[in-house]
Amino acid sequence: MFRAIRRALLSVTDKTGLVELARELQQNYGVELWGSGGTRRHLEGAGIAIRDLASLTGFPEILDGRVKTLHPAIYAGLLARRDKPEHLAELTRQQLPTIDLVVCNLYPFESVSNRAGVTEEEVIENIDIGGPCLIRAAAKNFDGVAVLVEPGQYQQFLKVLAEHGGQTPRDYRRQLAAQAFARIREYDAAIAAWFGAGESASQRSEEVKQQEAGRLTVEPTPSEEGHFPETFTWQGRLVQRLRYGENPHQRAALYRGMNGSGATVAEAEQLHGKELSYNNWLDVDAAWGAVQEFAEPACVIVKHNNPCGAAVAARLELAFRRAWAGDALSAFGGIIACNRTVDVATASAITEPSARRFVECLIAPDYDADALEMLRRWKEHIRLLRLRASRPRAERASGSIAAQALALRSIDGGLLVQTVDDIQEESDSWRVVTRRPPTEAERAALAFAWRVCKHVKSNAIVLARDGEGGGWEVVGVGAGQMSRVDAVHIAVRKAGERAAGAVLASDAFFPFADNVEAAAAAGVTAIVQPGGSLRDADSIAAADRHGLAMLLTGVRHFRH
Ligand code: 5GP
Repeated sequence: MFRAIRRALLSVTDKTGLVELARELQQNYGVELWGSGGTRRHLEGAGIAIRDLASLTGFPEILDGRVKTLHPAIYAGLLARRDKPEHLAELTRQQLPTIDLVVCNLYPFESVSNRAGVTEEEVIENIDIGGPCLIRAAAKNFDGVAVLVEPGQYQQFLKVLAEHGGQTPRDYRRQLAAQAFARIREYDAAIAAWFGAGESASQRSEEVKQQEAGRLTVEPTPSEEGHFPETFTWQGRLVQRLRYGENPHQRAALYRGMNGSGATVAEAEQLHGKELSYNNWLDVDAAWGAVQEFAEPACVIVKHNNPCGAAVAARLELAFRRAWAGDALSAFGGIIACNRTVDVATASAITEPSARRFVECLIAPDYDADALEMLRRWKEHIRLLRLRASRPRAERASGSIAAQALALRSIDGGLLVQTVDDIQEESDSWRVVTRRPPTEAERAALAFAWRVCKHVKSNAIVLARDGEGGGWEVVGVGAGQMSRVDAVHIAVRKAGERAAGAVLASDAFFPFADNVEAAAAAGVTAIVQPGGSLRDADSIAAADRHGLAMLLTGVRHFRH
């Protein structure tokens, strides 16, 4: 059965998309809007007329907002059965209106309770009481009421209204009710976990913890190394419901593997700023993984999952400046990862007013107090993350699958599982195949470029060179191309004049010598690549013709 919407109750903490939704409801469908305090002020600020719920309940919001919407005048209008004349007559007798739509999202319990240094009081205050009640009431009465529990649903909702002349079909309302109850279950589970986490964790057996850690359910014996067992279980705990996924119409959440080591990106503490988005998490993960390659002070800047700048220097500040300068255009709005405590010098470089930088997230092992303060004052929204330790190398390199870190990716209906790409490589074991061997400086720059290249999507080409006063820096990246030579052209174009005298790393072998020709034409002096192509000889001959040095690693680093 189709139902029109005459009256809507709006009460949201996350105000994303609210103004657009409210305006369209009001202007296109003449919906009468009612709102709780903050929601009402937000809409009034945008010039949208909305009624105060207090005028319906005859009761103000009290107890610091603990009681805002908990009132029979509201619940009667939500719960009255539209198919029962007695219910409707009762509303009329009490002079109460029906409410046909609830738009409500909840206090951010999940993110607040996961915040570093949060107090118990803050966590408790973020347990939403009225919101879940509104949502449950509306969802129970889906026969007459529609309910939206997150901004990601608004677009679809408006589309349904547009398709049905301002009405909603019953099937759709039922679907919304299912989503609403799922949301409440998720929210309550997070609350229950927060209350009970400590106790239940200590009671769990080692074996169960191992399984919950997202590792394979069977610990292979040494003879079974490399063997993947019949079943695979991964369990995680909800950390954060994300505002949306890669795009606003996708729903998303972050789960953290049970019994984490304290050293994974999903366990990073957020010290400041807006909630991380789905894409932020992906990029933070990529940036952190890349910066862990280096023992010296290093900085990597990631955009759309690829490093656009990276540098190693004697001091973190310099590494940051060089990483940014590597491709300042792309670095704008980037994700920065550092492998050293962010000091005042680095924070000053990031925030210097003349540079007008824009940074989405910064992740580092720690921050000096003054540096943290400076960054906090700089931008209200900049997301500052701290991850004190990265997973120890020794554990990562262990031969047993169960002890190794695993990379999981989903495909339609399945999960791909592999050990992470953390092979230990030494550049002295690379094979020189050209007449000219690399100079020591070229070899060192190649080793740097190779490490960055491993973190660039295939086909990947990285141009790098030594920095003034020591260290190395990326000057051009060609990422994610469907043909390798295009990646070379892009990296060369990005490097501009700085391609001359740079070295080049290629994540996989060159299928044709045109790659080497293009690099040589730009002034590249040395190349590292895995080798293994049928036409290796052509590439080596081209390098010799142009006086380049070429080294083969025998290892490739595809990253799809
Ligand atoms: P507003 O910003 O409009 O003042 O508040 C919106 C938030 O309040 C929403 O997240 C909603 O879930 C929550 N809320 C609505 N009614 C009540 C209530 O009676 N008590 C509490 N604690 N929260 C409520």
